[in-house]
Amino acid sequence: MTTRSRTDGSPLDPPLPFDMTPRADQAARDEQLQRLVASTADVKNARRTAALQSAFGENRDALRTLAGKIKRHTLDHLDVYLERFIDRAEAAGAKVHFAKDAPQVGAICLAIAKANGSKLCVKSKSMVTEETHLTDALQAVGIETIETDLGEFIVQLDDDAPSHIVTPMIHKDRKSVARAFVRELGTGYTEDPLALTMIARQHMRKKFRRADLGISGANFIVADTGSLVLCTNEGNGGLSVSAPRVHIAVVGIEKIIPRTEDLNVFLKLLARSSTGQPQTVYTHMITGPRREHEHDGPEQLHIVLVDNGRTEILREPTRDLLRCIRCGACLNACPVFRKVGGGHAYGAVYSGPIGAAITPLFKGLHNYPDLPKASSLCGACHEVCPVDIDLPLHLIQLRKEMETRKTLPLGERWVYRVWAAVLASPTAYRAACRLSRVVLRGIAGATAGGDRYDDRRWILRMVGWIGGWTTHRDLPTPPSASFRDWWDARRKEDGS
Ligand code: SF4
Repeated sequence: MTTRSRTDGSPLDPPLPFDMTPRADQAARDEQLQRLVASTADVKNARRTAALQSAFGENRDALRTLAGKIKRHTLDHLDVYLERFIDRAEAAGAKVHFAKDAPQVGAICLAIAKANGSKLCVKSKSMVTEETHLTDALQAVGIETIETDLGEFIVQLDDDAPSHIVTPMIHKDRKSVARAFVRELGTGYTEDPLALTMIARQHMRKKFRRADLGISGANFIVADTGSLVLCTNEGNGGLSVSAPRVHIAVVGIEKIIPRTEDLNVFLKLLARSSTGQPQTVYTHMITGPRREHEHDGPEQLHIVLVDNGRTEILREPTRDLLRCIRCGACLNACPVFRKVGGGHAYGAVYSGPIGAAITPLFKGLHNYPDLPKASSLCGACHEVCPVDIDLPLHLIQLRKEMETRKTLPLGERWVYRVWAAVLASPTAYRAACRLSRVVLRGIAGATAGGDRYDDRRWILRMVGWIGGWTTHRDLPTPPSASFRDWWDARRKEDGS
């Protein structure tokens, strides 16, 4: 079986336990990569804010609260809604399968492909198929499998891995796309986005015509109708479903929503949160295989409902993480995601704040001890989340879990204990702030070789393990007096 890798050749699924530092370090030195990721993330973030503001104004928080509540209700009654979905989907002619883990996803899909003699598969973008390495499993038995989302297609041509949930090639520029097309498709060199898109389109059209198997995920599955809902901007999702004779939709069990009218809420939020569009260009609702009077659609529709660790996350206190609709907004808003050059630094399929919270739950906290710490806890991820997931809270819970399980090194555990004790006592906190001001201003004066008390100085280099802080950024010199001192002095002056 082939395993896809990052552009630099290192495997996407790294040896465990995963050490984030080398990848983050490498990315932090790569200013071009950071610029690429930050510029796309900035644009998407700004479009998201504008789209939500112009559509809902002051009501945008009420809508996301409602979306969060619908998801929470569905997760609280997941068994009921899954049973309803299976009944309705099978009544409409689909065949529903259950997969406990990634090998079962592969086994089910390969059995369907084998039974139908499939040779060429067109695949629409799906995070759960990335998570379960389905493309690798199909390719390993000789089924040619083409990613048909443009970003995923380019990533596949480079034998690379996606770096963002929604924008898989956030880490690539036009030049690298042009080079990949020349190398893999034998075309002339062009950096024109329209020309590159047309090349990909022509290549894929031929594949769609010949494909005998289609695979997709689903953005939502609807319990009351047994339908799949697919949201895409390129139309490739619809073609992957309707062109081949056999279709398999591979879907995480948390994608379920109770009723068709609930889609109203989620479709309003999904595209605006992902890309700032009012709606994705294509929204397909697929209920059962093709009927006699219909002109297109698959003759067979298989739906594989995937657990792969989700029922573990369903336990409290992590249940709310399953509300995620994979919009990618928290990645775009996260300062750490930008600084580490996108998703590859997280060493897993899901990246950014949501990846930092769910990857340790999917793959073991002991295997990903760095991820809960890969956040400044600034709260930007929670602020933008359309289903109101309090990601900082979940990351803090994971950090606490690490302390309880003693996964952290002893020295670090003691630092956190002392820190907690200081934060719990106002007197100790004030004394610690005073001491840190004296020490940091002393260091600033010593390293700059000038006036120790110049408030404009920056500390360029710290020593020991604190030195990690100043490897990629400078530390501002603290002011000579705290805000409290300044406030007290001002009140005295005013005589109040
Ligand atoms: S956690 Fe929220 S913001 Fe992040 S991808 Fe999921 S739904 Fe979007």
